[in-house]
This record gives sequence, C-alpha cells and structure tokens, in this order.
Amino acid sequence: MDVMALGKDYASQECSIARALEIVGERWTLLVVRDALYGVRRYNDFLVHLGIPRAVLASRLQSLLAEGILEKRRYQESPPRDEYVLTERGTALWPVLRSLGRWGRENIDGTLLREFRHADCGTELGSYGECPACATVVPVPDVLMVPGPDLDPAPADPVSRALLKPRRLLEPVVLGPAGAEPVGVDPA
Ligand SMILES: [Zn+2]
Repeated sequence: MDVMALGKDYASQECSIARALEIVGERWTLLVVRDALYGVRRYNDFLVHLGIPRAVLASRLQSLLAEGILEKRRYQESPPRDEYVLTERGTALWPVLRSLGRWGRENIDGTLLREFRHADCGTELGSYGECPACATVVPVPDVLMVPGPDLDPAPADPVSRALLKPRRLLEPVVLGPAGAEPVGVDPA
C-alpha cells in the first residue's frame, strides 16, 4: 500500500476513525469528495474549481477509485473520456462533510458560503444532514444547495459560476466548451 510507504498510516490504531482517515485523511481528498457531491464529475472541472496541482488531483482520484469511493463512467467514446462519479460508499460521506462544514462555520470563520436545505420543505439541514422540520434524514439527492450571503457572486472559474444557482447535490455540473458559460443547467 502506497500510504504505508509514505509512513502516514495509523496501523497501530484500533479505531474506525483512524481507519477512515487512512482513506479520506489526505490533504485535498475530502475536497474532491465535496466537489463530487456538488456534481463536479470531470477532471478539468475538479482542476479549475479546486485549483489543485494536476499530479495531486490525479493521485487523489486514483486512490478514491481504488477505495471504491468514486467510479469511472465513460461519457465520450472518441476520444475516450471518463468522468468520476460517487459510489454509494462515497455518497455516504455527505453527513461527515455536512458536520465538518457546520463545525467550520461555528468555530472558525462564521461565514455562510452555502446553505443546504431540504428540497421538499426548504428547511436548513441540521449538523448531520437531517431535516429538523420533517424529523428525517434527508436523502442526498433531496438536498438543495443554495448560495449563502458570503459567497462570491462573481467567481472567476466556470464551475463556481455553475454552482451559483440553487441546485440539488449530485446534479451533474454541465459546462460548455472550455471557458464558456454553463449550458444545460437552466433550460430557459
Ligand atoms: Zn424538511
């Protein structure tokens, strides 16, 4: 295992948190998962939205594939192009990111960049992805992501611009040709 070669594993830890960190604890990894939850699927879209070095992105995508958190899906045959889609195992990380985001807002910076609401009733989700009004755990595709008051209204990259519109988690981000405005998101 390459993580062991890096000397960053927690093999001596009999703890499921430590075992999970073996998979998602590397720098950038959870942000790749976050973007995948936001609907980002394509290599170049991860690249421009995350501002991540190419080699690091390639490495993180490979390990997420190897761990069964992402899977490849062919979207174009010639030339062959694959996109990266969360598996069920990967989608199950949503409450972790929700909790982490709430913790960050409440304990670090207080900014509200994005709100996450139950699409059925509009209520903001609780810390674990639950809807307090409906007293239910909200399925990930029923989570509505809405820009918060502190989000940059005129971001430079096209993925961020696509994410300015209210949208459900996992709804694919569809962009036009490189640098173009998003297409196919809003039929109007
Ligand atoms: Zn609700």
